[in-house]
Amino acid sequence: TLDQGISWHKSVCRFCGTGCGLMVGVRDGRVVATKGDPEAPVNRGLNCVKGYFNAKIMYGKDRLTQPLMRMKDGKFDKSGRFEPVSWETALSEMTKHLRATYEKKGPEGISIIGSGQYTIPEAYTASKLMKGGFRSNNIDPNARLCMASAVVGFYQTFGVDEPANCYADIEKTNTIILWGNNPAEAHPVLWSRMANRRLTDKGTRIIQLTTHRSSSSNLSDLVIIFRPNTDLAILNFILREIIRRGKVNQSYVEKHCIFCAGVTDIGFGLRNTDKFAFPAEKDVMARQLSVKLDKWEAVAQGRKEGEVVPQKNSGGTAGKHWKISFEDFKKGVEPYTLEFVAELAKGDNDESIDTFKKKLMELADYICDEKRDIMSYWCMGVNQHQRGVWVNEQIYAYHLLLGKHALPGNGAFSLTGQPSACGSAREVGAFCHRLPADMLVANPAHRAKTEKIWNLPAGTLNPKVGASLMKILRGVEDESIDFLWTQVVNIIQSAPNNNHWIKACRRPDAFVVVSDIYPTFSARCADLILPAAAHFEKWGLYGNAERRTQGWHQLVKSPGEARTDVWMMMELAKRFTIGETWKSVPVKGVKDDKLPDVLAEAEAMGMKPETTLFDALFAPTGKRAEAVWPDPLYKSELNNTGDALGLKWFPEKALFNEYRQFTLGDGHDLADFDTYQDPKCRGLIWPVVNGKETLYRFNTEYDPYAKEDNLFYGKLMKPVASGDLYNVTDPKQTAYAGTAKIFFRPYAAPVEQPDGHYDLWLCTGRILEHWHTGSMTRRVPELHRAAPQALLYMNPGDAEKRGLKRGDLAHVESRHGTCEALVETQVRNIMPAGTVWLAFFDEKVKCNAVVIDATDPLSEEPDFKKTAVLVRKA
Ligand code: SF4
Repeated sequence: TLDQGISWHKSVCRFCGTGCGLMVGVRDGRVVATKGDPEAPVNRGLNCVKGYFNAKIMYGKDRLTQPLMRMKDGKFDKSGRFEPVSWETALSEMTKHLRATYEKKGPEGISIIGSGQYTIPEAYTASKLMKGGFRSNNIDPNARLCMASAVVGFYQTFGVDEPANCYADIEKTNTIILWGNNPAEAHPVLWSRMANRRLTDKGTRIIQLTTHRSSSSNLSDLVIIFRPNTDLAILNFILREIIRRGKVNQSYVEKHCIFCAGVTDIGFGLRNTDKFAFPAEKDVMARQLSVKLDKWEAVAQGRKEGEVVPQKNSGGTAGKHWKISFEDFKKGVEPYTLEFVAELAKGDNDESIDTFKKKLMELADYICDEKRDIMSYWCMGVNQHQRGVWVNEQIYAYHLLLGKHALPGNGAFSLTGQPSACGSAREVGAFCHRLPADMLVANPAHRAKTEKIWNLPAGTLNPKVGASLMKILRGVEDESIDFLWTQVVNIIQSAPNNNHWIKACRRPDAFVVVSDIYPTFSARCADLILPAAAHFEKWGLYGNAERRTQGWHQLVKSPGEARTDVWMMMELAKRFTIGETWKSVPVKGVKDDKLPDVLAEAEAMGMKPETTLFDALFAPTGKRAEAVWPDPLYKSELNNTGDALGLKWFPEKALFNEYRQFTLGDGHDLADFDTYQDPKCRGLIWPVVNGKETLYRFNTEYDPYAKEDNLFYGKLMKPVASGDLYNVTDPKQTAYAGTAKIFFRPYAAPVEQPDGHYDLWLCTGRILEHWHTGSMTRRVPELHRAAPQALLYMNPGDAEKRGLKRGDLAHVESRHGTCEALVETQVRNIMPAGTVWLAFFDEKVKCNAVVIDATDPLSEEPDFKKTAVLVRKA
């Protein structure tokens, strides 16, 4: 039979946040097939077209098998060509540059950009190495480009991160509201479940709010096409309608919620130097320094309309806000009448204003209907938004006002783009401001807890929030950061405004290392390329968007000299000593502008200045976890990390079990490594208490941490920044712990809008066939043939006005850069007049040369959905 000689093993798909289970077929040491796992509750045997091709992603012809370094005359030269080198040469050169930068610029001069595709042990190792070893918080995952706005929205609303609900709600609800997302292409298996629900339950309705018709529109009962950025106004209209129609769930709100407002951090996170400024950006910078309050902001702030308020950036943590009364909240949303919002939000399509008004009222009717269960879903359309945090908060606001959250079939659910954006980037704390289990580097108690679990001297951890992803790239550009290591990510292709970052990588004093499985666009901009182990060539765990942690074991060996990212980090850790990094080191803005010397305490703990970072950070991990050889799960021929390091313990297991200690008793409880590796286990939704998963948080029937008088965990809430609402050490704030916050957020215009010259909106995103930058899926012939290039989706009228038709090559230009793509006017994305759409998977089209790098000021997440462009025939 076809199955002959194939052994099948459970694993997880790596191509989106859905987290589908896979069965992976191995024959003769090679992955030869994958199929949907029928036992997996997420997908019940189904995969999408990307999932079915997981087997082929590792076997592209140009798979990296050796380190490659830029060389001239037998030695490293920034202007040289890539040549194969040994691991020893690669790591020595890397160490030399890292050491030189560290000595010159301290922890602030080095950086790592990681990923939501990190496995949990990889993210944990990277975070521990940077924060504990190098005392640097300059580590940030590409999840910053993806769901950072969701993270801040969660923190601000609930004080803890990640959704309360689970995927099972799809089959329990009868109203699915999609805010700016297109699950038919971005989360295909979830979409299959939604479609199945719609087609098999006659009362179920799907409502899509979007800036253009997409594949998900075809099955939607109500499609509201709105002008880009105006979702914030539509949400205020909904909040107003709930109040106007008397639908507020008074007892729920009084018991579990407070109302808040706050309009700080109006800036857009653009560079604050005029080195690259152009007229529009200068205007933005002026607005960043101060803002004139309009009438609604004035209402929220209790100030006068027109008053000028100085602004500042938050460092990617949170804005200041304060408690207001329900009456104030009501006043805040009062101006968002049907007439006002319809005028503001109606897209440039053929629809009449009356039809648009009717649709808005229909949306309000669904939401206010007491008999309806409501699930709201969103992803990048909300998060990649200059007001992404506010939009997240407002979606929670309507669910909270109705008391329809964290209940079977009712809740606000933020989807994630990547397979482990939740598990690795968020839960492990791989962000520049976070520590494991929702803790924060700026909080002394959290640092102390981390130092204890990591066995570090008190005071080792750096209290200053590090550079977030866009700040790291800008730091490489402006010479404040000289060392950058990117792992499991193709960031130079995927970051916005990337002409800057290409140049920054080639700056003479910068040293850029890229670990990947293929020579990606980013790798080709680097100085050193390290060949990495692929998904099925390592032991791993991912955490998906419904808090489900799933594990898989290594199935095949890596080709050539490719190594796991954990191995690379541990090898680097062997080349530095605590004497170099735990002495007093300069950091701007901390007490006395430096971190304390903690070597004396380290010595008292049995370490010496010459102790390596490996011995200080990772050797105790193995010992403490008692994951000592021979571990029953450990197969020596299939352990890329442990074998290559010559360890007598199992690194991924020991690292995971150490990380688990942060989660226990904290509302984030995870099971142990062996539980997730059990061939029968298809993942568990945390918190896992007494071996039982928790389908709904903040619900006393399901969640062991939720109490009727403390639904949102009270004292477990994590402070976001000192002085804000969650600072439970402040007696005035303690009263609000355990409540959810309902925010008033006024509509605010985006940083740039189409004008007489750049007269169209450009929105970017993903398509079904390709994963992110296409570095893996474009190497699968079937997927490449299905979608060989990124197309510019245009409204036929807009195309005609520019002398373009389907199949013509168009030139796309913004204030930031240019690209070219073939025009498509008929299928997949049907654009209203005034908006064009491009996917970012195609490195030949390179759409991120065009995209603005303005960010949400609270989350520091860029807005990939709103760049003003002109389009003409190429
Ligand atoms: Fe499932 Fe997403 Fe993988 Fe498709 S890409 S199989 S929806 S996890």
